[in-house]
Amino acid sequence: MKNGIRCLAVIMTLMLTGCGEISASSDYGVYIGAEYSELPEGISYDTLVIDAQYYSKEEVAALKENCGEIYSYLNIGSVESFRDYYDEYKDITTAPYENWDEERWVDVSNPKWQEFIINDLAPQLIEKGIDGFFIDNCDVYYIDPREEIYQALTDMLSSLKATGKTVIVNGGDSYVSRYLDENDTLSAVIDGVNQESVYTSINWDEGTFGETTKDDSEYFLDYLERVSDAGGEVYLLEYTTDDKLARYIQDEADALGYHVFISSTLELVPVEGGEKDVNQQSEAMAPPDEPVKENTTGEEKMTTTNVKDTENFYGIEFTADSDIFARIKGKSYKDDCTVPLEDLRYLHVLHVGFDGQTHEGEIICNKAIAEDLLEIFEQLYEAGYQIEKIKLVDEYNAEDEASMADNNSSSFNFRFISHTTKISKHGSGMAIDINPLYNPYIKTVNGNLNIEPANSTPYVDRAADFPHKIDETDLAYQLFIAHGFSWGGAWNSSKDYQHFEK
Ligand SMILES: [Zn+2]
Repeated sequence: MKNGIRCLAVIMTLMLTGCGEISASSDYGVYIGAEYSELPEGISYDTLVIDAQYYSKEEVAALKENCGEIYSYLNIGSVESFRDYYDEYKDITTAPYENWDEERWVDVSNPKWQEFIINDLAPQLIEKGIDGFFIDNCDVYYIDPREEIYQALTDMLSSLKATGKTVIVNGGDSYVSRYLDENDTLSAVIDGVNQESVYTSINWDEGTFGETTKDDSEYFLDYLERVSDAGGEVYLLEYTTDDKLARYIQDEADALGYHVFISSTLELVPVEGGEKDVNQQSEAMAPPDEPVKENTTGEEKMTTTNVKDTENFYGIEFTADSDIFARIKGKSYKDDCTVPLEDLRYLHVLHVGFDGQTHEGEIICNKAIAEDLLEIFEQLYEAGYQIEKIKLVDEYNAEDEASMADNNSSSFNFRFISHTTKISKHGSGMAIDINPLYNPYIKTVNGNLNIEPANSTPYVDRAADFPHKIDETDLAYQLFIAHGFSWGGAWNSSKDYQHFEK
């Protein structure tokens, strides 16, 4: 995304149709979270959902060459911190989005918010050439079921409908059900609904797909039947790798007259440049084992009712009351730390270990290099570049030597440069060390070699040939340099072969 940290909205759908032939239908595709360049080339759906805020008018027009209608994501119930209007509306937010640091519920009854959605944001999207809105977070009424919230949603949806564009609500069954209780048809407010997980569910802790419980499934099917009977279109978003189940869902949806998009993966391999076929790329890059969706941040990354992140490379802004901060407080974030928390980001990445397997990595760095690191680590992962460990230095009690000796790659660790009030590059999270055991820091003091980590002696001779050596021919070196970093291996007075900084 254009604005710092990668968009956390879902790319639930860099759906790999060739990879499992899960979804035969091309009538509905949801690619929220993917920029134009990340979409598969020649993408073709009768209805394609994107986040048009991040698309140009020309890009929308280009998509229309192969697609029927383009709908844009529009979040009317909450505001995410990566949006360029976040700061302006932060003061009318009401509560944190459960388990999600980057997003806050908005007081939708505030006229300032309604004015913004209807007279500013929606027109901007319409100007891009979209045909409809994919409205998210009407669940604000489920969170706060007050009359004025219901009224505010009704007012906003009516205004959006009055633009002549199609309006689809994602989730929001509490709101829609009440509206149906009080009205015979939906047509004054919406044209249809999108519902996730009617048949399939996601177990975030185990990173597996399952089936929705019978009770939940029946509840949603009843609800959707009401929507359909009231003249609403029904769109389903499901996740499974089970071909048989996928065919069953497709058949059921066809019989009911519902649109369905079935994603075979949550492991969204971002598509670079769009010049490769997404299917081929996914197979070529298929990691040796499934990434484990373990809940390393201690926070749920999304709920199935809330369209959110499913990518493996993402960044999170975190606050002093977060689980992330609890892990670094008094360690890398020392008590005298002068770097404001809002300048730091927690990154989740995947990497290929020395065992050739996929592993999850965690990094804390400065927000100024967060996007660079996400891009670099994604490219390294795709290339199969081996990095043994990417853990927070806090797992070594924030002791650099211990972390380096264990060949752990890490970034933020607050410290002042000795005898100054200047913060070191790692201290501000503007530097990162890669495979430090194989790429030591070397300095000659009075003719004596000073080596860190101490156990890296076998790798001091940089003319020798050994694996994981960073030099000018190394991919990590090339990517960091391309992103404007400088390399410690090029220093004159000392050499720090593991180190890249901005
Ligand atoms: Zn370093």
